[in-house]
Amino acid sequence: MSKDKIKCSFCGKNKQDTLVLVAGINGHICDECIEQAQGIIKEELSEKSPSFESNQLKLKPVEIKEHLDQYVIGQEEAKKTIAVAVYNHYKRIAQEIGSDNVEIEKSNILMVGETGTGKTLIAKTIAKILNVPFCIADATVITEAGYVGEDVESILSRLLQAADYNEAATEKGIVFIDEIDKIARKSDNPSITRDVSGEGVQQGLLKLMEGSIVNVPPQGGRKHPEQKLIPINTKNILFICGGAFDGLEKIIARRLKTQIIGYRAKETEDIDRENLFQYVTPPDIKGFGLIPELIGRLPVLSFLDPLDRETLRRILTEPKNSLIKQYTSLFELDGVKLSFDDEVLDLIVDKALEFKLGARGLRSICEAIMLDIMFEIPSKKNIKEVTIDMALAKKKLQKSSIKKLKVA
Ligand code: ADP
Repeated sequence: MSKDKIKCSFCGKNKQDTLVLVAGINGHICDECIEQAQGIIKEELSEKSPSFESNQLKLKPVEIKEHLDQYVIGQEEAKKTIAVAVYNHYKRIAQEIGSDNVEIEKSNILMVGETGTGKTLIAKTIAKILNVPFCIADATVITEAGYVGEDVESILSRLLQAADYNEAATEKGIVFIDEIDKIARKSDNPSITRDVSGEGVQQGLLKLMEGSIVNVPPQGGRKHPEQKLIPINTKNILFICGGAFDGLEKIIARRLKTQIIGYRAKETEDIDRENLFQYVTPPDIKGFGLIPELIGRLPVLSFLDPLDRETLRRILTEPKNSLIKQYTSLFELDGVKLSFDDEVLDLIVDKALEFKLGARGLRSICEAIMLDIMFEIPSKKNIKEVTIDMALAKKKLQKSSIKKLKVA
């Protein structure tokens, strides 16, 4: 082809009519077509990596659960319930915009489960999946207005901070309130005349969850009385509460027993006594000491299973950021191939069970085994491979102060 016949293969423009004509194997492209193509690429990519908004709406419950599965082991019921609740929550927000449909109520969530079974992890992971601001608040540090401690509004200060002070994003965020069981009403205790940490705080939380405009101190706390308050509408903020509810099993068992007396005796056998939380109902929570109004604002009630040996073993290796995967990649960065003998993993689980440390204990036990090794290996240039075998693991555990972690 002679030089003056060269054309852009996309728009057909002659070479002399273009600023730049880039040659490929079987054709050419002009500067204008490159620019246009760039625009198309940008558009396509932004559709494929959705922003905040579209992430919340595009993920269906099944997909939300699939994401959760990558981080949270077991807890099938909780993951399913929460995936549905969260999906409905964001659908409800979307529906509100200019429609006169049935008003869907907010699906705040209450999770009941022993400590260290994954309540915080589920809430945190949900927020990450949806790419919304997230904060954790501890119900025990909140006190009624006028008392020493934090006001309920401080919870929203934290969410505002997590949202980088973007008010619109804050208003669609997720708040995880931990230890909600610790603010239960203690009315059956006659020595408490004024229940500072109980009912008053529940009333305060109720105000937040009801969906109202709350004036939030942007820096939190009461230390800056001069700070300008920011009004935040809590209508679309999703509240997830969690608690260990020590003693709730007894309330559930008592109810089940009286219920069963009316039925056939055989039904008693079907009850899984090792995991009574699975039968929890709102009246049980009321019996525990949460006020009915607050329970009413937490319509989605879910439970977490206690972690058994098999689940703990899976937690050690399966999640996307499991402890073992983390250690392995830490060593990889130093060019060292790290591996664990299977029986060492069993040992770690056994120790976590023995010390009653749950999943949190896995980390302390791993650290006890790995500390010396992580200390020494980076300086030993010639070592390219490390295997943690039983003898080594036992030796390190014996040397460590891990026994001090044991709870009586
Ligand atoms: P809590 O129920 O007390 O809120 P967390 O969610 O904080 O417990 O769990 C403590 C730690 O234990 C988490 O950081 C996580 O590493 C681990 N863990 C607990 N439960 C699970 C689980 N079901 N799947 C995976 N990891 C878990």
